[in-house]
Amino acid sequence: MPFAFSVTARDPGSRARRGTLLTARGAVETPVFMPVGTRATVTGLAPHELTELGAPILLANTYHLLLRPGPELFRRVGGIHAFMRWPGPVLTDSGGYQIFSLPAERTVTEEGARFSSYVDGRIHMLSPEGSIEMQAAIGSDIMMVLDECIDATVDEAAVRAAMQRTHRWAVRSLAARANAEQALFAIVQGGLVRPLRRESAAFLTDHPFDGFAIGGLAVGDTRPQREDMTAFAAELLPADRPRYLMGVGTPPDLLYAIGCGVDMFDCVIPTRMAWQGTAFTSTGRVRVTRGVNHHTDEPLDVACACSTCRGFSRAYLHHLMKCGEPLGPRLLSVHNLHYYLDLMRQARAAIEAGEFAAFARQRLDEMDRHEHATRTASVT
Ligand SMILES: [Zn+2]
Repeated sequence: MPFAFSVTARDPGSRARRGTLLTARGAVETPVFMPVGTRATVTGLAPHELTELGAPILLANTYHLLLRPGPELFRRVGGIHAFMRWPGPVLTDSGGYQIFSLPAERTVTEEGARFSSYVDGRIHMLSPEGSIEMQAAIGSDIMMVLDECIDATVDEAAVRAAMQRTHRWAVRSLAARANAEQALFAIVQGGLVRPLRRESAAFLTDHPFDGFAIGGLAVGDTRPQREDMTAFAAELLPADRPRYLMGVGTPPDLLYAIGCGVDMFDCVIPTRMAWQGTAFTSTGRVRVTRGVNHHTDEPLDVACACSTCRGFSRAYLHHLMKCGEPLGPRLLSVHNLHYYLDLMRQARAAIEAGEFAAFARQRLDEMDRHEHATRTASVT
């Protein structure tokens, strides 16, 4: 079944939209948050737990899977779905972000990026064609083009050069795709420079990509810069294709971007924060390891319906985290992912009801108030 996207409802008070992605492995309702399963696992969680949480699609990282276990294994077992026993859709990034953000030695030429493996020091060459070949071996349902990622705040000439190379690489990626069932998204670059973002969107939307991502944000930019560029870039993208904001972000970032018409998100924040002992709750962020939770019989969040909150007290979670027991971050990951996925369920319902603008305003006010209270409490 070929990839398709349809918009089923629009919010009258914002640019938010409700849609459905049809992939070879099922439908995904948008706006959607994709939990990050970097190495073919969402750290600590089994696939059936992700199913129970209602995760509709996972993200996996081409760079890490290329280095270990490598493409031959994926070809032998028939791809990531069979390998990790996850039957739902998978989106893979191209490896661009990791090549440019991890501290390995690298040389970037027009051909691609040459870098040494953090696993065994071997030299790898990742070209646009090589990235597509690896994503084909992984068998992902949505592939991303290899892009040259740079800090959004560097000088304009460097941003322009990276953007232009990203365009040439995008065209090569499109030519390298062999299986039309695997969707391919392009990535709009251009940093924080509006004319470059416009140029990038104009170039890429002239080619038959299945969707468009906004790249290069949440890398050194401030929240107002990120919001401004998200709103600007989303508006440049065609209404009939999905829009994906890569690697962003916090719950307020998600609500803001949905209001700009963004459909897809991924971010390590909910799971990474869980492993660091922080939970997102209806009354703000909670650091489980704080002494105040030592004797608290209440759940993490009385308003939450997740299995962690239904089953366990803050005191127990505090104990697990203090002892370094892996069940602690596992239970927090379940809660944090539930928080993110539930926020998206609420956002979809609000769009369907034509009430997203009011919903987002109310939730953003609450979140900002709680953040302020948390900051005030932590300095006093
Ligand atoms: Zn919970």
